[in-house]
Amino acid sequence: MRRPSDRSWGAPTYGARFVSHLRERLVRAPNGPGNTGHSSKMNRLAETAERVPVLIAGGSLVGLSASLFLGRLEIGHLLVEKHPRTSHHPRGRGNNIRTMELYRTAGVESAIREAAAVLADNHGIMQTPSLAGEEHNWLFRDIDPGGKAARISPSAWCLCSQNDLEPVLLKAAQDLGGDLRFGTELLSFEQDADGVTAVILDRRTEARSTVRADYLIAADGPRSPVREALGIGQSGHGELFHNVSITFRAKRLADVVGDRRFIACYLTNPEADGALLPVDNQEQWVFHAPWHPERGEALEEFTDERCAQHIRTAIGMPDLEVEITGKAPWHAAERVADTYGFGRVFLAGDSAHE
Ligand SMILES: Cc1cc2nc3c(=O)[nH]c(=O)nc-3n(C[C@H](O)[C@H](O)[C@H](O)COP(=O)(O)OP(=O)(O)OC[C@H]3O[C@@H](n4cnc5c(N)ncnc54)[C@H](O)[C@@H]3O)c2cc1C
Repeated sequence: MRRPSDRSWGAPTYGARFVSHLRERLVRAPNGPGNTGHSSKMNRLAETAERVPVLIAGGSLVGLSASLFLGRLEIGHLLVEKHPRTSHHPRGRGNNIRTMELYRTAGVESAIREAAAVLADNHGIMQTPSLAGEEHNWLFRDIDPGGKAARISPSAWCLCSQNDLEPVLLKAAQDLGGDLRFGTELLSFEQDADGVTAVILDRRTEARSTVRADYLIAADGPRSPVREALGIGQSGHGELFHNVSITFRAKRLADVVGDRRFIACYLTNPEADGALLPVDNQEQWVFHAPWHPERGEALEEFTDERCAQHIRTAIGMPDLEVEITGKAPWHAAERVADTYGFGRVFLAGDSAHE
């Protein structure tokens, strides 16, 4: 197990020795008398805490899904998400068959397909040195060639941008009675044999309060503060590549793309490469521009002007009007947590595996 981080976030309680001590106590006598592991301060807080069966930290794709699935099972829960709203960046887009089967079970498959209708005819990955010319090749045309998967599943792969998917999950989870609080951050937590005591912060009012839950789900992303606080290490290849995910508007691009309805198009101009992804097949697009921090390239160097110029060169239209509407760094990584849970805390989503 990796050394716990030195951040104040949970670290004083979750030193490596404490973790192994707690693990021993939880394993030996989960319900044994006096096996609280609580600091006296947390003990006092637990007495006055709001009580809930499950606390979910993180209200993105996985936290919202956890809320939805718990709601279907009528299990009470509270979700806290530090951001004020769901993602406005398209982010992840491909939802595989198993994911769609689970959403089908939860009764939201058709709502997701409706939200994703604008991309329903986009299939395949294309590659070309320039979109301006005719030359291009398809790395693959169909995600389910020959309909093999369709014969064994009632669901199918679905291209739905995260900013379209998350509001569907949020509404469905709320309709099922879930208590989902945006603008609310999990500040710290402690666990004992009987539950988890957490301190949360309402970022609008700056009010802190305490929650006592039977279980904590850490859907708090790849840098998971909960995983860090528990001292759970990760293994795997590590970072694979970095890019800057740029959202932009370009009115004339659809004319050039024509009927080549791709999921993604790899643009291979050595002067400016990257991947182009449709948002509405009309004016709104995403471009993934390679970013090389290992060569000392700073994020600040990705100015709007540079991004627009890179996109024009990559696409092969030097006079294309490009309006940059957003930028966010993103890296793909291959890392798996050494354990997916500890005691009453479970890791889910990118906190468990990137
Ligand atoms: C710019 C960008 C582009 C991407 N593009 C792609 C792509 O093209 N394809 C692809 O497959 N994937 C992509 N991804 C990755 C994809 O978005 C993630 O894999 C996915 O969102 C993981 O979901 P998650 O819920 O596990 O974690 P996250 O989406 O990381 O969500 C974690 C949430 O927890 C919240 N949180 C963290 N700590 C706390 C706390 N203490 N209290 C309260 N809330 C907290 C965070 O605010 C966040 O909302 C992209 C990601 C980014 C950022």
